[in-house]
Amino acid sequence: MSTIAFIGLGIMGSPMAVHLATAGHQVVGFNRSPDAYGPLEEAGGRAAGSLAEAVAEADVICVMVPDSPDVEQVLTAEDGVLAHARPGALVIDFSSIRPDVARSLAERATEAGLRMIDAPVSGGQKGAVDAVLSIMVGGEEADVEEARPLLETVGRTVVHVGPAGSGQTVKAANQLIVAGNIQLVAEALVFLEAYGVDTAAAMDVLGGGLAGSKVLEQKRGNMLDRSFEPGFRIDLHHKDLGIVTSAAREAGVVIPLGAVVAQLMASARAQGDGGLDHSALLRGVERLSGRGDTSPEGD
Ligand code: NAP
Repeated sequence: MSTIAFIGLGIMGSPMAVHLATAGHQVVGFNRSPDAYGPLEEAGGRAAGSLAEAVAEADVICVMVPDSPDVEQVLTAEDGVLAHARPGALVIDFSSIRPDVARSLAERATEAGLRMIDAPVSGGQKGAVDAVLSIMVGGEEADVEEARPLLETVGRTVVHVGPAGSGQTVKAANQLIVAGNIQLVAEALVFLEAYGVDTAAAMDVLGGGLAGSKVLEQKRGNMLDRSFEPGFRIDLHHKDLGIVTSAAREAGVVIPLGAVVAQLMASARAQGDGGLDHSALLRGVERLSGRGDTSPEGD
């Protein structure tokens, strides 16, 4: 059993830390705002008073924060991981960030005497709660194999996809596919409603054919009920589509549908929907067609 520091107990980090504690590891959590420790403490973990304290005794340091600058801060700040972790500790970054940032942070971790892998996840809040995440892992083979039992505690499909940063490249592709899929399910729903079709029945039959997908399965309820509690926030998906469009541009790869859906995600955010689940792309489709009640939430 390992001593694990877990930094970032948000929608994803909290249930993941709970699974590690339930599996018998000593989990020391650190969260910027102090109201997030309840589930971890109930599972036998404990709260640290600072980031430096959380990582000081850890064999493994898990990070699950929103964006590239956040991971940079957690690692490189004065009270951060690189300054306070034990030599040889293994950093597992579960956050979804830019592949180039993941590569350069892994180099800096190595220079500081640590090891680091990128292990972004897919499967949403439900996947985290059920411990069935898909985890795309970049890093040195030996480090990935050492991390594998922990990764398999929070996930079901764990695949080593290449050297440092590769996990983030695969995650960017994942976010491209998911965004496009949500947008098309939303367009199909508004189209079906315009014809007065029984949409729940339509979703049942669509789900059984080639149009079926995890997105349709997991997001149809949100869309049919117009209930957009996150989940995965539009703000975060906007961040991910920024990552994939700029990485594609750097590689000289053209992703026309990706570019359109990135703009639609940006529009949803600009319309005040950034805090809603990404299934709220539906609201943008409704706005374009002059349908539904798409006034800002709370109005
Ligand atoms: P979240 O609920 O917003 O949680 C983020 C956590 O990071 C919070 O605990 C927050 O602390 C902390 N944090 C934010 N900025 C920080 C900083 N600069 N330094 C230290 N801690 C900081 O986000 P989430 O949905 O769990 O997402 C986390 C990551 O997982 C993101 O990269 C996201 O893209 C990825 N992801 C999310 C999902 C999903 O369905 N939600 C699915 C797959 C991947 P406070 O409590 O103080 O704000």
